[in-house]
Parts: sequence; structure tokens; C-alpha cells
Amino acid sequence: MSARILDGVAIGEKVKSQVREAVAAMKPRVPKLVAVLVGDNPGARAYAKSQAKACEEVGIAYELRELAEGITEADLVREITTLNTDPEVTAILLTMPVPPHLDGRAAQRLIDPLKDADGVHPVNLGGVVQGRRQLAPCTALAVMEILESAEIPLKGAEVVMVGHSEIVGKPTALLLLEQLATVTVCHIGTVDLAAHTRRAEILIVAVGKAGLITADMVRPGAVVIDVGINRVPDPETGKSRIVGDVDFGPVSEIASAITPVPGGVGAVTTAMLLRNVAEAANLQETLRRI
Ligand code: NAP
Repeated sequence: MSARILDGVAIGEKVKSQVREAVAAMKPRVPKLVAVLVGDNPGARAYAKSQAKACEEVGIAYELRELAEGITEADLVREITTLNTDPEVTAILLTMPVPPHLDGRAAQRLIDPLKDADGVHPVNLGGVVQGRRQLAPCTALAVMEILESAEIPLKGAEVVMVGHSEIVGKPTALLLLEQLATVTVCHIGTVDLAAHTRRAEILIVAVGKAGLITADMVRPGAVVIDVGINRVPDPETGKSRIVGDVDFGPVSEIASAITPVPGGVGAVTTAMLLRNVAEAANLQETLRRI
């Protein structure tokens, strides 16, 4: 069997066109995303560039607010509080990680939940737990969007989620639970990972270890969603290349559907960030009208 490739770029483009329409309908209001970046991080700056491009494509205004590496906790708090109260700012994103002298998680908690572009504020994570979600973590939303667009039935499906981080594994597991999937969450303490993954009709992997999931760990016909992003040396070119956590070639021979890396979950995650910004604008407008 050769797996159907779940094309994240195409799914992301479809979501973007929906967001573009939603944003156009808000005129003359223009939603604005402010990304806060503390310190000089070339990877984060490249990410910011792609965010800016994606925002431009759908009509969302974008500002990168760069703060000095040595900024104090108090100044970071002041910056976020100012953005929270600025009516021109629809959504805020704190680029992680922040320098070690700052508490990134505490700073994220200061963001107004209605402006929380990443959907990681405890109020929004609580909404995911309660099944009343408004904004939610972008990557978890991306996984759900891919499964929905591929028309993969979730009710009663045997799902194994590998990785239990706050921004990917846990919220994804909860969103799947809401759809009545039977979800097993595996993590560093899982004793026999393969025994679990081999049972999965839907296998989702978000760990950050290239080659973690090999073909012998996958049930024939499974749907495999690879969230991992790893930079590995490419012996052919002598440069580095991006791969996921799943051994793509051999696994795609036995899976029924699989996301590639790159071109899978990452492309949809960016689109879900834009959707969160549009959603934040709508939530704030609804509140203004009350
Ligand atoms: P993270 O916070 O480091 O979480 C990794 C998770 O994997 C943790 O729950 C960890 O458990 C678990 N783990 C580690 N080794 C394991 C093993 N051998 N077996 C089973 N579980 C294991 O990372 P993250 O933010 O969730 O991201 C995970 C991966 O997805 C990374 O490669 C990241 O770059 C990528 N990512 C991609 C996107 C995208 O849009 N495509 C978005 C976000 C992240 P413990 O905590 O117990 O150690």
C-alpha cells in the first residue's frame, strides 16, 4: 500500500482563503497581530517573517515588536499590559523561548485571553477541556483540521497521541476526546511505545525526535500525522534538511494516509494562527456590542 499524502499546503491555503473572506467582511476594521520577540534569535526572526507574509496574504496587519535581550520582567509585563489595552491590537503572540532570566509561561498568562493568538492562555486551554473552545493552540487545531479535511472518522477511532506537551499533545488529545475518539497519550514514561502505536488507527506524533516512529511500529492502514520538526544532516548535499518524527518512506508504504514534513502540519498551523486572529477580532466585536 502506498499512503495518501495529506497535503498541508493545500489545506492551509483553503483555510487562508476562508480567513481572507472573514477579514474582508470586517472592513473598515483591520485586525492586527503583534508578535513580541525578546532578544536576537535568527530562527524566531525567520518565523516572524513568514508570519508577516501570511498575515499580508489574508489582510491582517502585522507588527513585530522586538525587545532587548536584557529587558526586565517588569518591562515585559508593562509591554504586554500596554498591548492588552491598545484597541488597535487584536491579537498578541509572545515568541518562545524567551531568555532564561524571564518566565515565558508567566508572561503568556498576562496576555488578555481574548487577544491570545496562540490559544495557550489557561482560560483558552480551560475552554478546550470544557469543550467550549474559542481560541485554542494552533498546532492542535491544525491536526484537527487535517483529519477533518481528509474526512477521517473520529468517533470511536483508536487514536494514539505520542507527546504530551501543553501546546501540542495535551490539547490535541482533548480535542479528539471531544469528538469521541478513544485516545491514548504516550510520553517519556511510556514503557512500551510500540505496543501502543501498533494499535492506533490514527497515530499522531509530536516529540521532536527524527526516526522515532519506524514502520514496524505502525498498524497497516493507519492514518499518520507527523507534527515533529527536526533538522538533520543530509549526506547527499552535505547541508541540513527538515524531517519529522516518523520514518516517512517505509511508513508511507503501510499507512493509508500520512502528512509529509515539510508540507504537512506546519503549513496548516500558520493558517490556524490567522484563523485565531480573525476569531479574536470577532469575539472582541461581539463583546463591544453587548
Ligand atoms: P515538547 O514540549 O518538547 O514535547 C515533546 C513531548 O514528547 C513531551 O511530551 C515529551 O515527554 C515527549 N517525549 C520525549 N521523548 C519521548 C519518547 N521517546 N517517547 C514518547 N514521548 C516522548 O515539544 P512540542 O512543542 O510538543 O513539539 C514537539 C515536536 O513538534 C517538535 O519537533 C516541534 O518542533 C514540533 N512542532 C511542530 C509544529 C508544527 O506546526 N508542525 C508546532 C509545534 C511543535 P516529557 O515531557 O515527559 O519528556
